[in-house]
Amino acid sequence: MAGLACADRLAEDGVAVRLFDKGRGPGGRMSTRRVETSAGTASFDHGAQYFTVRDPLFRDQVDAWAAAGVVVPWPEAGADAWIGNPAMNAPIRHMATAHQVDFQHHVHGLQRDSAGWWVRLDTGMEGPFDAAIVALPSEQAASILGLHDLAMARVAMTARSQPCWTAMIAFDEPVDLPVDHVSGGGILSWAARNSAKPGRDGPEAWVVQANGAWSAARLEESPHVIGPLLLDALGQMTGGAGLPPVAHLTAHRWRFAMTRGTDNGALWNDHIRLGACGDWLLGPRVELAWLSGRMLGARVAQDMTLPLAESG
Ligand SMILES: Cc1cc2nc3c(=O)[nH]c(=O)nc-3n(C[C@H](O)[C@H](O)[C@H](O)COP(=O)(O)OP(=O)(O)OC[C@H]3O[C@@H](n4cnc5c(N)ncnc54)[C@H](O)[C@@H]3O)c2cc1C
Repeated sequence: MAGLACADRLAEDGVAVRLFDKGRGPGGRMSTRRVETSAGTASFDHGAQYFTVRDPLFRDQVDAWAAAGVVVPWPEAGADAWIGNPAMNAPIRHMATAHQVDFQHHVHGLQRDSAGWWVRLDTGMEGPFDAAIVALPSEQAASILGLHDLAMARVAMTARSQPCWTAMIAFDEPVDLPVDHVSGGGILSWAARNSAKPGRDGPEAWVVQANGAWSAARLEESPHVIGPLLLDALGQMTGGAGLPPVAHLTAHRWRFAMTRGTDNGALWNDHIRLGACGDWLLGPRVELAWLSGRMLGARVAQDMTLPLAESG
């Protein structure tokens, strides 16, 4: 979200952008996973569950996404709760169509020489680029930034994240709960009937997320151990009614799920033209990731439209 929001803002000023993302497809922490199960193709928004809108600029963006059909309200979760349509990653997929994005490209580092910035990938170096922007969770950003700007890396190191173990569970029949989502309760921070969100189809599918403390204490545990524990925790919510037969169960470890955040907004070193954006520069919400990217894009566009000698 932050990287593409930054790219969108830069494109408004005519700055060409290239993005590299290690993911198989668009989403990051707004990803959706589709799984073939004995009950049909189940879909799970296993990261962010919904997002809210407070900033007027983001409100305009969400209105534009709604007009394009890639987000819809989810009134069940709150008066101002929005979700991607037909999956959480839909707005990211939509934004990515406007840019050159290379998925399945793991960035191992950045290098800088007299020609500019180079991106180190499994397949070799890509570049040179006039500027480089790091839009990763803070812990991953810190190691890439550290070689070039220690002050930026230090900010990234202060914005620690909490992990989140998430189970994706499909059932042969509906779970006997009178509601489609539950917040808190025992070891869980959240459980939602993903298949009941607007725009979804497929079999009964639940996303079950453990709270930060429980997830942190079991961070290195195997997903095969965690999955049944989260299934059990969901079962306890049915108050003895029990769960129907399970068609699919996997657990995903979000190592850097929810950032504590900082109040920097975005970071930009105009001498070496290196920047950073992401939720960790504001707070742990989709809207704040978008705002951070947008802020950085505006700042970088100012410098990129000047000849190098005048910048900084
Ligand atoms: C379980 C969970 C629940 C959440 N619930 C909510 C919620 O209900 N509401 C809400 O508003 N927010 C929620 N959030 C937070 C929200 O998802 C994030 O704040 C937001 O999506 C962060 O966007 P970002 O662009 O900063 O980072 P990310 O989405 O993490 O994007 C970073 C990108 O960098 C890529 N990447 C990482 N390392 C590399 C590398 N070395 N090379 C190349 N690419 C790399 C990743 O693939 C990813 O696409 C939740 C997050 C999680 C994990």
